[in-house]
Amino acid sequence: MLSATSQNTLPEAAPVAAVSEGAVSEATPVAAPAPVSAPAPVSAPAPAPRAAAPSSTIRSPWLIHYDASSCNGCDIEVLACLTPMYDVERFGIINTGNPKHADIFLVTGSVNERTVPVVQQIYEQMLEPKVVIACGVCACTGGIFKECYNTLGGVDVAIPVDVFAPGCAVRPEAIIDAVVAGLGILEEKRVRFAAGELREPVALPAVSAADKLVDGETVRAQHLKAAAAAQERKEHDHG
Ligand code: SF4
Repeated sequence: MLSATSQNTLPEAAPVAAVSEGAVSEATPVAAPAPVSAPAPVSAPAPAPRAAAPSSTIRSPWLIHYDASSCNGCDIEVLACLTPMYDVERFGIINTGNPKHADIFLVTGSVNERTVPVVQQIYEQMLEPKVVIACGVCACTGGIFKECYNTLGGVDVAIPVDVFAPGCAVRPEAIIDAVVAGLGILEEKRVRFAAGELREPVALPAVSAADKLVDGETVRAQHLKAAAAAQERKEHDHG
C-alpha cells in the first residue's frame, strides 16, 4: 500500500535556469564542409612501346642467284631450297631473275676474269639496301679451284660480301641460315639507308688475272719482279 506522502507529493522538478536572450552564447561557427575537389583526371596508361614493324622486304625477300663458275653442286642445293622439301617460297622468299627486283644476291662458285664483270654488273643494278651471300666454299675463298690459273678467288674479290655460307656443296639448311642472317643485315642497312648513310654507290675494284694473289703477292707484282731480275741478268752478262 502506498503511503499518503508518496501519493500527494510530486517530486520536485529540477530548477530550470532562466536564460536571458543576450546570454545565449553564439554557437561556434561550423565551418562549411570543404568542397569536394574534383578527382584528378586519370590519364590513360601510355601504350607499351611497340617494336618497329619489320619492313615488307624482311618479310618477303627476293633473291637473285648467279653461278660465277660453280661445278653446279652448289646450284643444285640452291634449287633444292625451292623444292617442296624446303620450300622457301612459303616464307615469302622468291627467286627472281631481275637484279632490280632483288634484295639478296646469292653467288655460287669462284670468280674469274669473265665472270667478275657480270657479278659487278648484277650488284650495281640491284637497288640499295642489298645483301650479298657467298654460297659454298668456292664462292667464299675460291675453294678447290683457288690455285687454278684462271680463278681469281672468292666473290669478295669483285664485290662486298655480307654473309659467307661455306660447304662443298653448301647444304640447303646452310643457305637458309645464311638468308636469315642476311635479313638481319638487310634490315640494318635499310635503317642506315633511310638515315641517308648508304647513298653513295660502292666503288667496285677493277679486277684482272694480274691482281690474283699467289703466295701473298699479286701475279702482276711477281711478273714485274721476274722482268726486273731478267733485265739485271742481261746487263750483268753483257758487262
Ligand atoms: S663448293 Fe663444292 S659443290 Fe660448290 S661449286 Fe665449289 S666444288 Fe662445287
